[in-house]
Amino acid sequence: MYYTKDSIIYHNGAYMHPEKASGNLYSQALHYGNGVFEGIRSYKTKFGAKVFKAAEHYERLKYGAQVMGIPCDYTVDELVDITYNLLEKNNLQDAYIRPILVTGANMSLLTAEESFLTIQCWEWGKYMGDKLLKVKTSRFQRPNPKSCFVEAKITGHYTNSILSTNEAKKAGYDEALLLDMNGNVAECSGANVFMEKEGKLYTPKRGHIMAGITRSTIIEICKEEGIPVAETHFTLEELKQADSAFFTGTAAEVVGLASLDDYTFPLSWEASLGYKLMQLYKQEVLCERSQKLSEAI
Ligand code: PMP
Repeated sequence: MYYTKDSIIYHNGAYMHPEKASGNLYSQALHYGNGVFEGIRSYKTKFGAKVFKAAEHYERLKYGAQVMGIPCDYTVDELVDITYNLLEKNNLQDAYIRPILVTGANMSLLTAEESFLTIQCWEWGKYMGDKLLKVKTSRFQRPNPKSCFVEAKITGHYTNSILSTNEAKKAGYDEALLLDMNGNVAECSGANVFMEKEGKLYTPKRGHIMAGITRSTIIEICKEEGIPVAETHFTLEELKQADSAFFTGTAAEVVGLASLDDYTFPLSWEASLGYKLMQLYKQEVLCERSQKLSEAI
């Protein structure tokens, strides 16, 4: 599903078919989750393939590598160049791109001295689909920021996302919402959350969440469009009094929530700010937002 007989990946300095690539069974990433990765999208625009916020994604990859002490010899520019080459070799414009920096063999708990970069890409629709989501509050919390670097995309952190997604799906929901260690709303297992109340948007402030690149894009668009938005802590009870809510993420893009546990968001999705932002986000990634909507009217 992720590759065909014609797919090409970048692996340790060379381009090859995924089945030609080999890894090390003693890798610290495999045993202890000490690897860093990214989730990036490229879009087919009128200017050709455009990797959305490529530099920001690779800066986050390098930040994660730095805090974990994982060697990363590539510059952001080199990583961006490899990504465009890879898209061309795969003849892809609309694609999901998955770089991963895997640590070398080391069974001790001191970061391995070697790392290997792999970049894969494939066609992938909106990760959570287009339908409004039925969301369940998870019994799992997001990790304590004093126990790890929550803003780094470390492979091992994703066991928390897997636990909460498994729990939600098993109970018949589409996705999980996680609180932070203080009981405030944090984020979805793989996306950030926004709520709308009386024409204003609120999203949890940084500290316990992944500082999503889509989240910052949405905040930037709001500022340009004059949509009021606040980054602040809020509780589950406050979220369950919101008019509407939505998730944001590179893979998920912008997707609305139908309900949270037994609470149904009362505002129709089409009348919400989330719906408007879903369209503006699409225009932004497709390089079609040359004119602000407010100016266009
Ligand atoms: N939160 C979590 C836990 C995530 O895994 C992601 C996906 N990287 C996000 C939020 C959204 O981040 P971004 O918008 O940068 O994709």
